[in-house]
Amino acid sequence: MTDRSPNLRWKLMDQLADGLATRSTSQPPCSWCANPFHEIRCSGLCDHCYRITREQNAIKQKIQQRKAKGLQVPYELAFSYRVAIEMEKLAKSESEHFDSKDSFHTGMTIERLMMYVSEEWIRHSYYSNYASIFSQLFSPAQRRALIYLLSRMIREHMRRNRRRKAVQRLADQGIHCLPPPPAK
Ligand SMILES: [Zn+2]
Repeated sequence: MTDRSPNLRWKLMDQLADGLATRSTSQPPCSWCANPFHEIRCSGLCDHCYRITREQNAIKQKIQQRKAKGLQVPYELAFSYRVAIEMEKLAKSESEHFDSKDSFHTGMTIERLMMYVSEEWIRHSYYSNYASIFSQLFSPAQRRALIYLLSRMIREHMRRNRRRKAVQRLADQGIHCLPPPPAK
C-alpha cells in the first residue's frame, strides 16, 4: 500500500479527526457557560463569566450607594445592570446549544450547528434537512472532529458577542439604552 492509497488517506484522516475531537481539559467546565475550552478562573467560573459577576457586583454597589444617599439611580446605570444580568442568563444557556457527549457525533448535530453559523453570520438559514447527508458524507470520527471545530468557533463567537446579544434581547422587550422620552 502506498501513501497515495485512498483507503490509507481516509484512515489517517479518521485518526487525525479522532485525536482532535477527543482533546479535552482535565478540569470540570465553567459552572455557568459549561464551555470546555476555557480554564476555570475563580469560584467555578471561567474568565468570561467571572468578569460578568464582577461587573454585576460593581454596578450593584454603585446603585446601593446612591440609594443609601437618597439619590436617584440614573437610567444608564440601571440599564447597565440589566445588561449584566442578561449576559449571565445568556452565559448560563450557552450549553443548551450543544449536545451531551452521548449524542455528540450525529448528522443532526452538524445540521443544527451549521444552521446556527449560517443564521448568525449571513442571516440566512442554509443546511435545513441536511442531517442525513452529513451522516452519510462523514465518518463518525470526521463528524466528531467537525462538531468539535464548529462548537469551538461558535462558543468563541457567543462569548465575544455576549454584550451585543444581551442589549438586543433587552431591546426585543422594549428596554433600550436611552431612557424613553418624557410623556407630553
Ligand atoms: Zn463561563
